[in-house]
Amino acid sequence: MSEPAAVARLAREVTSGLDAADLEDFYRDLHRHPELSFREHRTAARLAARLRAAGYEVTEGVGRTGVVGVLAHGDGPVVWLRGDMDALPVPEETGLAYASTVDGVMHACGHDLHVTWLVGAAEALAAARGRWSGTLVVVGQPAEEAGGGAAAMVADGVHERFPRPDVVFGQHVTPGLVGSYPHTPGLILSASDDVEVVVPGVGGHGSRPESTVDPVVAAAYVVTRLQTVVSREVAADEPVVLTVGRFHAGTKPNVIPAEARLSLNLRTRDTRARERVLAAVRRIVEGECRAAGCPAPPGFTVIPGCPATVNDAALDEEIAAVHRALFGPHTVIDFGRAMGSEDFSRLAPDGVPYDYWYVTSTPAGVWEAAPGEEPAEKIDRVPGNHSPLFAPDLSVVVPGVRTLVSAALSRLA
Ligand code: ZN
Ligand code: ZN
Repeated sequence: MSEPAAVARLAREVTSGLDAADLEDFYRDLHRHPELSFREHRTAARLAARLRAAGYEVTEGVGRTGVVGVLAHGDGPVVWLRGDMDALPVPEETGLAYASTVDGVMHACGHDLHVTWLVGAAEALAAARGRWSGTLVVVGQPAEEAGGGAAAMVADGVHERFPRPDVVFGQHVTPGLVGSYPHTPGLILSASDDVEVVVPGVGGHGSRPESTVDPVVAAAYVVTRLQTVVSREVAADEPVVLTVGRFHAGTKPNVIPAEARLSLNLRTRDTRARERVLAAVRRIVEGECRAAGCPAPPGFTVIPGCPATVNDAALDEEIAAVHRALFGPHTVIDFGRAMGSEDFSRLAPDGVPYDYWYVTSTPAGVWEAAPGEEPAEKIDRVPGNHSPLFAPDLSVVVPGVRTLVSAALSRLA
């Protein structure tokens, strides 16, 4: 790691030739043509074409619609830059000249901007390859919104088929007055998991419950007792959400069904809390089934959604210092931890440090017009990610390239 000021200076030089108008055109084109999770064919093809033209060795179809571009230039670390590519089933209401042309689909999370940043960074770093040494891997990830995109790339061998990362960088556009680059060392986003539970019973006639084991009653006890997990087993200052979103059993009033099914969603902010809550849920499910005399052990399947995103704190502080040197001392703020989730961290193999930060994008006029005095008040009153009105300011195109380029150069230069 070089001095932040030196890295920032180099990043400025490397990006001085950026063609902002070209990148903005590229962005507007992606915005007009949003594609849902795992259907990012056009987007992936556009990204792949730009990477290929810049000299990257490009592989498409990684994890279904993912793109990986590799540019090796001498000895040195392997740096991964990741951007997600998918849009959302949201009908756009921005009224922009370059609004979505696809009915009911919109880049409402800004992943079109993420792809544009990747292209800008990949091209700038390729053009300046004489200034750095190592291997750059540019990853266009599918299906972040659906949650399975990074996992699909990992299952498709992204860590074996391509140079394994020494560090992984990612960034997300976010509401907030344009011109800041929020960093959070350590935990930044929560984990989300689903749990599928099957309570086995012995079915029979509704008039003769004594000949059955009623899974509806057992499952009802499970639901009730699960309410004690957050209230009685989790510390008051530890944010955990546990919701039973689905309870399914039975077909008729006079038939006691043979099983009941429950679907749970769990949000946690740290691995220990996640493990503890999952263990408590399992214990309660097993205990209630035993108490009810179920004929078999319950089914219990954890479907991991997104792991918590936990930035390597030292790495985050280094990159934050570079961004501060690049954009000014007051541009790097800390938004703190969020209950939202991301699958970005799956792209970093166990033990490999990663850093994920934000780029604020609310146009100054929209920000000033929002009610409230303090940024904390305004931030909830401007269109945010997933809003049909989400419309990042185009002035973030170049700075978002610079954040990525400077992060990469902090390791490669
Ligand atoms: Zn999103
Ligand atoms: Zn997103």
